[in-house]
Amino acid sequence: MNDQKHTILLQSLPSTEVLRARLTRAIQDRDRGHQQVSGWASLRGLASQLTPPDLQPLTGPVERLEHYLQLAEERDSISARRPAGCFCLGLGGRGRAFTSNGTELWAETCGCPEGRVEQVKITNTLAHLADAEATVRKLRIWRVAEIPDRFQGWNLASSPLHTSNPKLMRTLLDWDCQRSWYFWGPYGRGKTGLAVGLARLALDTQDRPGMMLFRAVPQLLSEIRATYSRDEGQTEADLLALYTKTPLLILDDLGAEQVKPTGWVADRLYQIIGDRHANDKTTIYTSNLDIDTLRQKIGDRICWRIIEMCGEDHIVELRGANLR
Ligand SMILES: [Zn+2]
Repeated sequence: MNDQKHTILLQSLPSTEVLRARLTRAIQDRDRGHQQVSGWASLRGLASQLTPPDLQPLTGPVERLEHYLQLAEERDSISARRPAGCFCLGLGGRGRAFTSNGTELWAETCGCPEGRVEQVKITNTLAHLADAEATVRKLRIWRVAEIPDRFQGWNLASSPLHTSNPKLMRTLLDWDCQRSWYFWGPYGRGKTGLAVGLARLALDTQDRPGMMLFRAVPQLLSEIRATYSRDEGQTEADLLALYTKTPLLILDDLGAEQVKPTGWVADRLYQIIGDRHANDKTTIYTSNLDIDTLRQKIGDRICWRIIEMCGEDHIVELRGANLR
């Protein structure tokens, strides 16, 4: 990994406290699992004998989080040496984003000396674009939407569905940017890519600030939980308002979380999805589960609203080759 890529990775990490809290939870989960299967360590030992080293499932959540935590500490120590207010770790900006002609830029530049240099470069680049202003607006919306880095350059045109399912592709391209979608199927079938592609399509036709937001459902839930343990910053009500009012919300990986049809998780999801349903807000769901399985997991009241929001022809199963 080159230096810039590594630093971009550092920029994208959550705070050290958040990672520590996640690690504590993951260790608890692992230890609980340990009791149930009587021997996590021996299972893992077995798995490592059966799997080639680079495919080892290993590295379960605990090891991954320990690794991230190490990186976050590296980030914090770089950060401590930067000028006050600098968030870029010396890169000049954060959030790689693409202009309409494919030029890669920082979506947000920093106030530090490196940031001012980057700002001049960006201004010069944009001056060469015919619709510089709209481009900047769209970049900002895309940045604020928090589309994951690995989907930054995605659009429907680059989807393999063009050849594998041209009929679905036509329906997607004809989308009115209003009615909701539910994409489901096994891992790696391009569900999230399609959701991001549709968001890009919506951005091509309109560019209202704050018009879209991407959230993996487990992340959304832990963001809400995190508000309970702090006294300042965003409250639960702020977050719920954000999730319900944003005109286009991508809820990625619905049903991946541990959930019972009644209980805290289902209640929060119902608050968000029920409110979006009542106010006709567009929502793009992705899930590993078909609607019936999802219904058993998170309950009728939520599923009924998802079905109403999407309509049967917008509930789409993605099969075919694993794209990863
Ligand atoms: Zn900076």
